[in-house]
Amino acid sequence: MKSRGQIIRSQSGFYTVRAESRDIVCVLRGKLKKGPRLGDVASVGDWVKITCLDDGTGIIEEIEPRKSLFVRMAPLPQGTYQQILVANLDQVLFVFACTQPAPRYGMLDRYLVIAEKQKIPATIVANKVDLVGVELAQQMFELYSQIEYKVIYTSARTGEGINEVKKLLRNKISLLTGPSGVGKTSLLNAVQPGLGLEVRNVSKVTKKGRHTTVFREMFPLEEDGYVVDTPGWKALALWDIEPEELDGYFPEFRSLVKDCQFSDCTHVHEPGCAVLAALDRGDIFPSRYQSYIRMRFGEDENVKIG
Ligand code: GDP
Ligand code: ZN
Repeated sequence: MKSRGQIIRSQSGFYTVRAESRDIVCVLRGKLKKGPRLGDVASVGDWVKITCLDDGTGIIEEIEPRKSLFVRMAPLPQGTYQQILVANLDQVLFVFACTQPAPRYGMLDRYLVIAEKQKIPATIVANKVDLVGVELAQQMFELYSQIEYKVIYTSARTGEGINEVKKLLRNKISLLTGPSGVGKTSLLNAVQPGLGLEVRNVSKVTKKGRHTTVFREMFPLEEDGYVVDTPGWKALALWDIEPEELDGYFPEFRSLVKDCQFSDCTHVHEPGCAVLAALDRGDIFPSRYQSYIRMRFGEDENVKIG
């Protein structure tokens, strides 16, 4: 019997496919694994066609074209291996706390650049608003809504903003990530009881090194949609971003760079630089410019570029 479904879990060559609300453990048809490969064949999030066998397992016959791909490039002696972290990812939510721990904007900016590079829409979740009040919280994060990012203010403790998060997650595959202690687990539990713990347990398994590349899972939401966590995000270096393309991943720089006098302008010291002019006018936030400089010239110890 043939069926169509979506991979919701992958582990060491076994793929759990959810097809017509049944979960079927599948392997790949041999022909899909043939030939030289420089990337994963299938991934969590992939839509696949399967053959169901009498014993209740299945075989993946075909992987449907993906509408998006969240990848990590892993350099190997034989070439760069494209590791798929999630296929068909719709969006990413970056969770930061207003306090405890205080937001690290440099880290947030780096996350946003990766999202831009991978063309994945990003939303910022500013959690723990109960500790600072909405007004201060908005002061802390409104620069991002002025750029173009959606910012949601939440408290996993009081329930504020949780409905907005729920609405955002509906019918989508969402990746939720952020530093530890900001309240990711609590937020997911507020969205759906038990969800936070499920996701956290998988993250723990995947962090044990050996399993990093082989175990992934996405978690179904009651109101349709999936949440996925991947330790991959934090481990993503920017090494596959060319220095010259970095300004293209700062949305507020994007429309300006064409007005720079030099086409290879680094926006640091060049005469006729439209980015520096905008910075002077106050049209670019200093913290964003600082992040650009740190990423471009590698002063950020977590970032290797070029
Ligand atoms: P994670 O590491 O990002 O998953 O963070 P947790 O969900 O484990 O939360 C870390 C700590 O922050 C816990 O002590 C939570 O109770 C607390 N916390 C989470 N969300 C909120 C919030 O909205 N307000 C307050 N006051 N505390 C929170
Ligand atoms: Zn410039």
